[in-house]
Amino acid sequence: MRRSTSTAVVTGGAGFVGSWLCQRLLADGHEVWCIDSLVTGRRDNIAHLLPDPCFTFVEADVCEPFDVPGDVDLVLHLASPASPVHYLRMPIETLQVGSTGTTNALDLAERKQARFLMASTSEVYGDPLEHPQRETYWGNVNPVGPRSVYDEAKRFSEALTTAYRDHRGVDTVIARLFNTYGPRMAHQDGRVVPTFVHQALLGEPLTVAGDGSQTRSLCFVEDTVEGLLRLAASGERGPVNIGNDRELTVLEIAEVVKEITGSDSPIEFIDLPTDDPKVRRPDISRAEELLGWRPRTPVRDGLSRTVAWMAAERAEAASA
Ligand code: UDP
Repeated sequence: MRRSTSTAVVTGGAGFVGSWLCQRLLADGHEVWCIDSLVTGRRDNIAHLLPDPCFTFVEADVCEPFDVPGDVDLVLHLASPASPVHYLRMPIETLQVGSTGTTNALDLAERKQARFLMASTSEVYGDPLEHPQRETYWGNVNPVGPRSVYDEAKRFSEALTTAYRDHRGVDTVIARLFNTYGPRMAHQDGRVVPTFVHQALLGEPLTVAGDGSQTRSLCFVEDTVEGLLRLAASGERGPVNIGNDRELTVLEIAEVVKEITGSDSPIEFIDLPTDDPKVRRPDISRAEELLGWRPRTPVRDGLSRTVAWMAAERAEAASA
């Protein structure tokens, strides 16, 4: 017996944010189709969902046209490498998923007459000259810099989503996600939180890029998912920033991780990557007004949960 009230397709559903989204959609009583190539997504992220009769996993690359049987109410398009380490290693693939992959996901929404949510990013603001970043800001992206493969792929995705809305009548909405963290981020993901936690748990030096004065604003994944689902359920077209407006320097993030893990790892300063944004903090007043949403999880609580999860993963791997 299916208990579902509606059907959602999540591209990138075996990724970090995607897997939390699938889990929450199932808990809310939806039928979920998870499409993932497992290039950066992981089967482990969704292993606990596979026995659910309302959950179907399809291993497929969204750069190839894809379909699901029956009605679909909502397409949530998250498929893309998202860590700088990953997209710098897969530059062409990242541009392809942002262009061809987004086209295929929008075509699915059009065929099914489903609502479409584009998971875009704060990277569309580049190295921002406006701070905090409001949705009205057009951004400061270097179109030929190394990060452009991700930034421009997402900017193209936003343009494509807008064109499908205005010229094809697809019911679309754009979310701009800011740095999200939490359990299920892969240890070798390369992003700042799993890297620092991994290093602290091993007693290795925490590799702070530059002088660590650059800022990021960390949003716990369950808060991000709540924001995305509220946005999907609204009639809004976006873009809407989904992130935490509590801003920390990278050095502060390193210090909090050291404190939570009780690690005496030293700080090691490494080269700042090219075009690394100097500041990043969302203005979330639009999300607050339109969706009644703001993040609930204090950074220390979210980081403690992330540390506990990563420590348990390590213990499990060691005993296996
Ligand atoms: N960073 C760092 N050490 C690391 C990994 C990242 O200092 O081992 C810095 C990175 O240079 C950036 C910030 O942490 O300033 C966030 O990087 P991340 O890769 O998590 O994502 P971004 O926000 O740059 O997309």
